[in-house]
Amino acid sequence: MNNLLDADYQNIWHPYTNTSKDNPLFHINSASGAELHLSSGEKLVDGMSSWWAVIHGYNHPELNAAAKNQIDRVSHVMFGSLTHEPAIQLAERLLKFTSNNKPTFDRVFFADSGSVSVEVAIKMAIQYWFAQNKPQKSKLLSIRNGYHGDTFGAMSVTDPDNGMHSMFKGILAENYFADIPVYGANIEWKDEYILSIQSAIEKHHSSIAAVILEPLVQGAGGMKFYHPEYLRQIKALCEQFDLLLIFDEIATGFGRTGSLFAFQEANVNPDILCLGKAITGGYMSFAATLANQKVVDGIHADSGNGKTGGVLMHGPTFMANPLACAVANKSLELLEKNNWHHQVKSIETQLLKELIPLSEHSLVAEVRVKGAIGVVEMKQAVDFNWIVPKFVELGVWIRPFGKLIYIMPPYIIKPEQLSKLIQAIQQVISEMR
Ligand SMILES: *Cc1c(COP(=O)(O)O)cnc(C)c1O
Repeated sequence: MNNLLDADYQNIWHPYTNTSKDNPLFHINSASGAELHLSSGEKLVDGMSSWWAVIHGYNHPELNAAAKNQIDRVSHVMFGSLTHEPAIQLAERLLKFTSNNKPTFDRVFFADSGSVSVEVAIKMAIQYWFAQNKPQKSKLLSIRNGYHGDTFGAMSVTDPDNGMHSMFKGILAENYFADIPVYGANIEWKDEYILSIQSAIEKHHSSIAAVILEPLVQGAGGMKFYHPEYLRQIKALCEQFDLLLIFDEIATGFGRTGSLFAFQEANVNPDILCLGKAITGGYMSFAATLANQKVVDGIHADSGNGKTGGVLMHGPTFMANPLACAVANKSLELLEKNNWHHQVKSIETQLLKELIPLSEHSLVAEVRVKGAIGVVEMKQAVDFNWIVPKFVELGVWIRPFGKLIYIMPPYIIKPEQLSKLIQAIQQVISEMR
C-alpha cells in the first residue's frame, strides 16, 4: 500500500495541492452508502459527498445497473447529427425538474463538467447580445467570493482577490464585481445591501451581457448564505437595465439547500442555469446549461453581421455522453423515489439540533445550517495537515478549507452516521488551542 501512495506522490497532481509528501493522502479501495473504505481496512463516514456530488451514496445498486445497462448498448457516440434516448429523456426531465410553477427553461446544452457549463453560459450571454447587434455588451458582472470553476472564462467571474486564481489577474478577461450582502446564519434584509451591485449596474450596464452568481449559497468561495431578497432585487435591476441573469447552481442544485433548486426557493427565474456536480449522483463528470426561450430566440436571430449564423458556438467531443445521461436519468428518478425533500429536511433538523451548539465554543465564529449543509466557521484558519488525518483517525471523512469545517453528507446518511460526523467535529475542536 505504501508503494502505491509513494507512486502517487511521485507521479500525480491532486486538486490545488503541491506535490509534497506533507499533504495528507489516503487510499480508497471501495465505497458504499455513506461510507468510504480505506485500503487499510478502516471505514470512514463521508461528510463531503465527494464535493456535493454523491447525493444517493456510493455504489448505489440502481445507479450501477443504469450504467451497466447503458454500457451494453452504447457507451458513447458523437452528438453531432446523432441522438439517443438517454439524452432526450434527460433533457425533458431537467426541464420538468427546473420548472417554477410553470416551465422556466426551454432548451438544454449538455456539457462535460461544471466549468464547461459556465463557459457555455457565458458564451450564450455574449452571443445573445452579439445577435442583438450590441456586441459592446460583452462583460460579466459577478459578486465577490463567488466560485464558478477553473477554466479561463469561469475563472474570470470567480472572486478576483480572495479566489483561487488571483495570480492570473491581468491575464483573465476583465469583468465587474460587486460586494455580496452581509451573510450568515440568520440574516435580516437591509436595503443598503443592494447598493454595491446596483451602482455597478447603473454605471456599466451598456457593456454588461449578464450578471452571474451562485444563488443563496456561495460554495467554494466560503460557504456563505445570503438573503433571497438580494436575488429578487437583482432580477428587477436586470429587467430595468436589460441584462441577462445567469445562476450557477452547480453546487446548490438537486435539493442540497432544502429546495430542489435555489432559484425556486427565492422565486427568481434566471435566463440561464448551470447544473453539474450532483447531476449524475456523483458517478461521472457531467453538466448542463439550460436557457429560456428569450435566450434561445436571441441567439438564433443573429441580426448582427451574421458571423455565427444563429448557431450556438460550442460542441465538446463527449457532449451528451449516453452513459452519463443514463445515470443522470436514474439519479433524478431516485431523487423523487427517495423523497429528497424529506431526506434533506431530516439532515437539516439534526444539524440544527446537534451542530448549532458548537457556536458557543470560544474558537468558533459562527455555525450555520441550510438544508443538508452544515458549516462551522472558525475564528482562525485550521491546521489542514493536522486536522484531516485527525478526522480519519476518528472514522470520518471531512476536509476543511481555510476557517471552514463543513459537511454536506449524502442524502441517504443515517442519523447515527451524521451524529458521528458532528461528534468528530466537536472532538477536533476540543483538541484545538
Ligand atoms: C464545482 C463548481 C463549479 C465547477 O465545476 P467542475 O465540475 O469542477 O468544473 C462551478 N461552479 C460552482 C458553483 C461549483 O461549485
